[in-house]
Amino acid sequence: MRISVIGCGYLGAVHAASLAHLGHDVVGIDVDPEKVENLSAGRAPIFEPGLPDLLAEGLESTRLRFSTDIADAAGAHVHFIAVGTPQLAGSTGADMRFVDAAVASLIPHLRGGDLVVGKSTVPVGTAARLAPDIEAVGARLAWNPEFLREGYAVTDTIAPDRLVYGIADGDDIAVDELNEVYAAAIESDTPVIVTDYATAELVKVAANSFLATKISFINAMAEIAEVTGADVTKLADAIGYDKRIGRKFLNAGVGFGGGCLPKDIRAFTARAEELGRSDSVAFLKEVDAINLRRRERVVELVIERLGGSAFQKKVAVLGLAFKPNSDDVRDSPALDVAVRLHGLGANVVATDPEAIANSRRLHPQLTFGTVEEALAGADAVVVVTEWKQYRHLDPREVAAVVANPLVIDARNCLDAEAWADAGWEYVGLGRRPLS
Ligand code: NAD
Repeated sequence: MRISVIGCGYLGAVHAASLAHLGHDVVGIDVDPEKVENLSAGRAPIFEPGLPDLLAEGLESTRLRFSTDIADAAGAHVHFIAVGTPQLAGSTGADMRFVDAAVASLIPHLRGGDLVVGKSTVPVGTAARLAPDIEAVGARLAWNPEFLREGYAVTDTIAPDRLVYGIADGDDIAVDELNEVYAAAIESDTPVIVTDYATAELVKVAANSFLATKISFINAMAEIAEVTGADVTKLADAIGYDKRIGRKFLNAGVGFGGGCLPKDIRAFTARAEELGRSDSVAFLKEVDAINLRRRERVVELVIERLGGSAFQKKVAVLGLAFKPNSDDVRDSPALDVAVRLHGLGANVVATDPEAIANSRRLHPQLTFGTVEEALAGADAVVVVTEWKQYRHLDPREVAAVVANPLVIDARNCLDAEAWADAGWEYVGLGRRPLS
């Protein structure tokens, strides 16, 4: 099938390369010339495991190419819209300018019968708003939200948990076409939910709202654990054995971030307000507030444990990406903690296996280094992204290079007892400090 993917960021680059891997003929379009140049040369502009191999394979087979010219989408039959929908500056709503511009630029190149497929996460009502202009040129619109997880994006694209097709009334052909796009997943019995536009759009924001709520729920329990001496990690294990609850997404820590969960729950709140239903999702404001409080708490703990001030103390910040196996620092709690500590006069040396370049672009005032440079002579070590490299640090070896054996485990990802046994003052979130 001939396919275009408009927008080649975290979602679009992986989507384009994965569809080429599945045998389709794909052109990826992006307005960013540097991104297109890199992708065309087989260089992944983002860190995403598996993406470089798929790019190499797709480019070599000539099934995959990239362009800055939207006219190159002409001739494709299915056109995915994968541009960003970030938080609007000065508001909690979604910035829809990129989606609107991408659709407007695509319309002159559509042929009758083409299928435009929205992948971006959008406020409910967007597809119904965009459909008339697309239908006016004889093309059709479907909404097929994306659920990939950064760090597992390739697997999630090739073998998704489920597929959701939001289609116009009676457009059964769109279902057949999308089934053809995802033939490999369909053959492996991936569930397909066919629905209207509004439901498809809502499925995505509802899923992210649920996940964010689950994280903030356990972080709220951590806040209570901190004032009662309870241990939130044991609490999570104990409630997680209940199959109705489940253990996943119950890791108390510094909270969620990234280019999706925070802005999606805020945009949902803004959209619900427009719909006169702000009460229905008012709890999401609390979910957001709990989440942001955890970042403050980590900073507070560092200060508290350093005797009341972090001023001129060397703090090793381990992790900058919002999650491991990603270089994404959008709304990253880890980067936020580094920036706050730096703002308080701490001598922060921050490190990350993949996210230093992106962090430096946003916060050139910070000092970045290797993990060895960060740890050397540190008065406090803060683990804020649970990269495998940090989880597997040997507490005895690290103790030998720091000035003061104090570790704040903001992801509860270290072996607390092993660190305490090695002479560390170990401080997790929502659990008693150990030493
Ligand atoms: P991103 O910022 O990484 O990528 C967006 C890309 O679109 C950029 O490369 C940008 O240059 C390009 N672009 C902007 N306007 C364009 C235009 N008019 N024509 C062509 N290209 C244009 O964003 P992302 O993380 O890939 O997210 C894209 C969408 O997918 C968002 O709605 C997001 O919520 C959703 N989503 C993202 C993820 C994820 O894990 N990143 C997962 C599921 C859904």
